[in-house]
Amino acid sequence: MNKETILGVQVSKETYSSITDKLFNLMGTSDQAFIVAVNPEKIMKAAEDPELKDLINAADYQIPDGIGILIASRLQKGSVRDRITGIDLMQTLVAEAEKREKKIFLYGGKPGVADKAAAQIQLDHPKINIAGTINGYEKDEEKIIETINAANPDILFVALGSPKQEEWIKANKQRLNVSVFQGVGGSFDVIAGNIKRAPKIFIKFGLEWLYRLLIEPWRIKRQLALPKFLLKVFSGKK
Ligand code: UDP
Repeated sequence: MNKETILGVQVSKETYSSITDKLFNLMGTSDQAFIVAVNPEKIMKAAEDPELKDLINAADYQIPDGIGILIASRLQKGSVRDRITGIDLMQTLVAEAEKREKKIFLYGGKPGVADKAAAQIQLDHPKINIAGTINGYEKDEEKIIETINAANPDILFVALGSPKQEEWIKANKQRLNVSVFQGVGGSFDVIAGNIKRAPKIFIKFGLEWLYRLLIEPWRIKRQLALPKFLLKVFSGKK
């Protein structure tokens, strides 16, 4: 298995292209793949919460979303070297779906957000087939399942926040004729233009956290979890 364990949580050792190939290769088979993004905050929570740990480990791919995961891997002499962010993987899969004529579906976000994100995706990828959208506050679970199955997408992006989206995917994937499930958190808000990402230069140097700290200084509390996390990984290494 192409994975490494950090504080009991599995982390995939993939690149954008290796994971994309694997995901598109299983379309048309009866296999399904479930992708969850992991960051230091989620791993710290999972280390204290066995249910959350099991939920994350039940996914097929745990993508390292966050520079902290790469530092942790180095500290424990592991080999996770490529950061894969949830939103960039989503964008990669969308671009590939356009090329390979596969269908995508967007489920989640406040009413109107998935539609706005879909309109932006359609603008950026004129040939993409968006099979449908459902907002993340729809209460009728049966209707959600029926709508998605009727639209018959290859990839379902689920944006309900964590761990709600992962719980939903785990509970429902067997009832859905979908090949690839990705939990994407606030990505629809970003694509719809409701939330701005850091400027490219910050992303390039792995400093998205610094940008967010500058515009939202109250995040310092959340970010202090990172040194704690690294210390825990370091002290636990064999
Ligand atoms: N959301 C939703 N249904 C819910 C709760 C949340 O669709 O019942 C959406 C919310 O509108 C937002 C996203 O889930 O678009 C939460 O994103 P957040 O950034 O909190 O998730 P994270 O990336 O932190 O997991």
